[in-house]
Amino acid sequence: MTRTLLAVSPHLDDAIFSAGGTLALRARQGWRVLVATCFTGNVAQPTGFALACQLDKRLPPDIDYMALRRAEDFAACQAIGAGFVHLPFLEAPHRGYDSAAALFAGRLPDDDIASGLAPALEALIAAENPDRIFGPMAIGSHADHLVVRSVLEAIGGKLSLWQDWPYADRASSTRIVPTETVRLDASAIGAKISACQAYATQIGFQFGSPQAMTDRIRRMDEEHFLTP
Ligand SMILES: [Zn+2]
Repeated sequence: MTRTLLAVSPHLDDAIFSAGGTLALRARQGWRVLVATCFTGNVAQPTGFALACQLDKRLPPDIDYMALRRAEDFAACQAIGAGFVHLPFLEAPHRGYDSAAALFAGRLPDDDIASGLAPALEALIAAENPDRIFGPMAIGSHADHLVVRSVLEAIGGKLSLWQDWPYADRASSTRIVPTETVRLDASAIGAKISACQAYATQIGFQFGSPQAMTDRIRRMDEEHFLTP
């Protein structure tokens, strides 16, 4: 019987940046791989910090930023042989997190996104009946990653948490000992590179250039997970 791996990604890129090699490997081994991204909702005319998050990707103010990113995710999932689900929740900059520092300073007390996200993920998990669930360890403490981890841990199931990349490279002080290591072969690394390159709007901001990103992915022949 076909096994299902459900990767629950906060943003349109996290699952594949962090665990794309393992996802590609499992898809090649015959698993049905599904990448479900939580925060893909649209805001018609973003303002303030939310708009700044678009402009700092060198994108004009009048484009549909999330439509562009959903299309990138479609291409990325295709590159690793995965299906995709886009849940329509709004990213933290649209929920009162008004600066880059605020995104990484813990969840706001009046942020009630979990009350909508939890039943949505419960319904998705009930519908897809995955054999394994992947989610973020929330290394780097982005508010959106923290809430996805806590909702997934509350739901339970066969959960493994990935090391959030590229945050994991910077957060040396919070190094967590993984409980599972997946070795990637050249084909899985190649598929991961192709998939990551699909997230074109994020590459300059996160890595400097596509080549710099590719060089870093090539050096990572393992992905690490924690079973909580
Ligand atoms: Zn993220």
